[in-house]
Amino acid sequence: MGQRTVLICGAGIAGPTLAYWLARHGFQPTVVERAQGLRSSGSPVDVHGGATEVARRMGILPRLRDAATQAPGLTFVTPSGRRVGPLRLGRPRGDDLEVPRADLAAILCEAVGDDAEFLFGDSVTALDADDGGVDVTFERAAPRRFDLVVGADGLHSTVRALVFGPETVFVRHLGLYVATLSLGRPAADPGTVVMYNQPGRSLTIHPVRGTAGAGFIFRGPPGLDYREIQAQQRIVLETYTAHDWPVPELPDLWEQVSAAEDLYFDAVSQVRLPGWSRGRVTLLGDAASCVALFGDGSSLAMTGATTLAGALAGTPGDPTTALRGYESRHRKLANSGQRGHVLAAALLVPATRTGLTARNLTAHLLPQ
Ligand SMILES: Cc1cc2nc3c(=O)[nH]c(=O)nc-3n(C[C@H](O)[C@H](O)[C@H](O)COP(=O)(O)OP(=O)(O)OC[C@H]3O[C@@H](n4cnc5c(N)ncnc54)[C@H](O)[C@@H]3O)c2cc1C
Repeated sequence: MGQRTVLICGAGIAGPTLAYWLARHGFQPTVVERAQGLRSSGSPVDVHGGATEVARRMGILPRLRDAATQAPGLTFVTPSGRRVGPLRLGRPRGDDLEVPRADLAAILCEAVGDDAEFLFGDSVTALDADDGGVDVTFERAAPRRFDLVVGADGLHSTVRALVFGPETVFVRHLGLYVATLSLGRPAADPGTVVMYNQPGRSLTIHPVRGTAGAGFIFRGPPGLDYREIQAQQRIVLETYTAHDWPVPELPDLWEQVSAAEDLYFDAVSQVRLPGWSRGRVTLLGDAASCVALFGDGSSLAMTGATTLAGALAGTPGDPTTALRGYESRHRKLANSGQRGHVLAAALLVPATRTGLTARNLTAHLLPQ
């Protein structure tokens, strides 16, 4: 009975999945989430492979199917406006789905229901671990002691910073930035993702159930200061409006960027740590092993959470063994997810015109 109360920091994808399984294994999970509540919509992410099986076991596949985006085609648009495609986006594999990230998080939290305590609008400020538990100080809630603490608080994890060290040691920038924006109107073609490219930058219009989302992925030097929304807007506009973008269906795209109150903006990065646990504190999802944009981060978050819950349930009196087992099983998957990023960047954001031409010619040759 060494770890019955578990504090999970973060109600993204990994956090609620872990809370769900821990509750079923007889633990008492508490989830603390910095945001005031659950947001809706957001960029689409994949639920596939082992994560689809996790979703099936959680009984949420029908909800995910209802929320899924349906855009099987991908068209590239060359700098001169020529269209390549539509190409079919992979072959359908069973129940694999693409779901707006925030909808996925909301459906996972709904599945947890009252089986976990949720503290929204709060975060941890100090973690003091000993052999028997972790004393936790919160920004707002009263201090409490938990048997175990899990950092499922994403790429810029506070738990990792408090226990393992500063982000600069573990977070590796891949030379790309990403910004996303909901355009609040339907996509011109609801069945096709359209990707416009100029050397070193891409603009993707992604149909997301009734509205279109714009994704900006571009190459840039490390260390851009993008904390404030004004800086984010300026960077996107400076990077993109220096080129012509043949996007006739969105004549006011740049005005929308200028007027956006909330852009998602981040440096595309991977997280690499030599070990995911220190005593009774462990890391999960992007906090432990962010694979960056291209490596199944949401699916890995769900499968990792399920593996962690199973390991804790397997040796309830011995967290050290449980956490070691979790890492040895899940790290193989996370490592393989981290490998493909150079090729993915070359395909999504070719750096040169020659690279773009080669990508588009290759796309023509793909089996359809
Ligand atoms: C534009 C974009 C496109 C992507 N596309 C894909 C894709 O196609 N396929 C795919 O599989 N993955 C994709 N990903 C990656 C995927 O979104 C992440 O890998 C996944 O969400 C990781 O889940 P997580 O629960 O570990 O972290 P997150 O989903 O980031 O959740 C972390 C949670 O912790 C909260 N939090 C942060 N700090 C604190 C704090 N101090 N205290 C309390 N709470 C805190 C956050 O508010 C958030 O709710 C994409 C990511 C982006 C940005």
